[in-house]
Amino acid sequence: MHLSSLLDRFAEPETLKMAKLGRELRAQGIDVIDLSLGEPDFDTPQHIKDAAIKAINDNFSHYTPVSGYLDLREAVCTKLKRDNNLDYKPENIVTSTGAKQSLANAILALVDENDEVVIPTPYWVTYSELVKIARGKVVEIHCGLETGFKVTPAQLEAAITPKTKVFMFSSPCNPSGAVYSKAELAALAEVFRKYPQIIILSDEIYEYINFGGQHESIAQFDDLKDRIVLINGLSKGFAMTGWRLGYIAANTTIAKACEKLQGQFTSGTCSITQKAGVVALTTDLKPSFEMTAEFTRRRAKTLELVKTISGFKCFEPEGAFYIFPDVSAYYGKSYNGEVIKNAADFSMFLLNTAHVSSVMGDAFGEPNCVRFSFANSMTNIEKAWARIADALAKLN
Ligand code: PMP
Repeated sequence: MHLSSLLDRFAEPETLKMAKLGRELRAQGIDVIDLSLGEPDFDTPQHIKDAAIKAINDNFSHYTPVSGYLDLREAVCTKLKRDNNLDYKPENIVTSTGAKQSLANAILALVDENDEVVIPTPYWVTYSELVKIARGKVVEIHCGLETGFKVTPAQLEAAITPKTKVFMFSSPCNPSGAVYSKAELAALAEVFRKYPQIIILSDEIYEYINFGGQHESIAQFDDLKDRIVLINGLSKGFAMTGWRLGYIAANTTIAKACEKLQGQFTSGTCSITQKAGVVALTTDLKPSFEMTAEFTRRRAKTLELVKTISGFKCFEPEGAFYIFPDVSAYYGKSYNGEVIKNAADFSMFLLNTAHVSSVMGDAFGEPNCVRFSFANSMTNIEKAWARIADALAKLN
């Protein structure tokens, strides 16, 4: 069997691989606590579910326009004005089967073979793999703990070449939890002004899960707005991961290109999801803020527990629901003759010994770190960190 060479160019998402390994152990009757996955553990708010049930009863069961129903694209515009003070029209919006597809559309629409795509580390696993699918070249900028996992204007400028086509980042960031302030975005914007060929992909899917204050979008700088592809979705902020709804806001040339691609791949996303999305985006955000309040409590508990573990160098996340400690102090230590050489070994050791799943940092471009989610119940968070502490105490 000869499969296509495309399959050799990119990797399976490490996050999904870890979740699969955890499930396999669970099938053997082992109580595995999952700190590997990136999704809220809450139910979708009732008023959104009601809108979906109504859509079924109203027979919204047919193909939709590829970029989404007009009322959904209007709802996205309403949301972008309400939350971000950004003016977009429905023709700027393309809704998709999750922000993952929005990102894929944008990368495939923009990146040609050997085009360079600059990505600050750590970044969400899918970014680099999408660039490889498009035959582009990933240019990583290493942003460690010392800069709060954020790219500085000097680092950005140093990474840009005449071949740079796209810069992509997320704020709040998965996996680090870093959040860019308005002043930090303004400083990056200064650099982008000098390089008009660069398109900026701004992934804002964790917008509502922000522990510091106001979310800032780089699209607020009017002179750059035309070069920004704003990406967002309903998965994280509305606990709607399974519903599959993401969107872009971009200039009409890019929006039309994404629509053309999507027209051949998937067509419009689920009609019922779209109708529920209209209600989610235009009504009461109280349930979203209640979820964030709970994430705030879990973050505090996680940080309190992590501080009792020696050897972790830990950044306090300002957004999203992960902590991303540097665990390299444990490299060279061993248990039962097995030496921990890297973050993958560390993650596997925790899975097999503490029965807690996590994701190694290599997948995010930071090989000394490991990502632990706090999108799990307070009980499980306490149990997981107690088990991790016990397991680490066994290392010598
Ligand atoms: N961007 C980031 C940074 C993410 O963490 C995720 C989900 N893990 C996505 C995009 C994609 O989200 P979805 O496809 O569920 O909308």
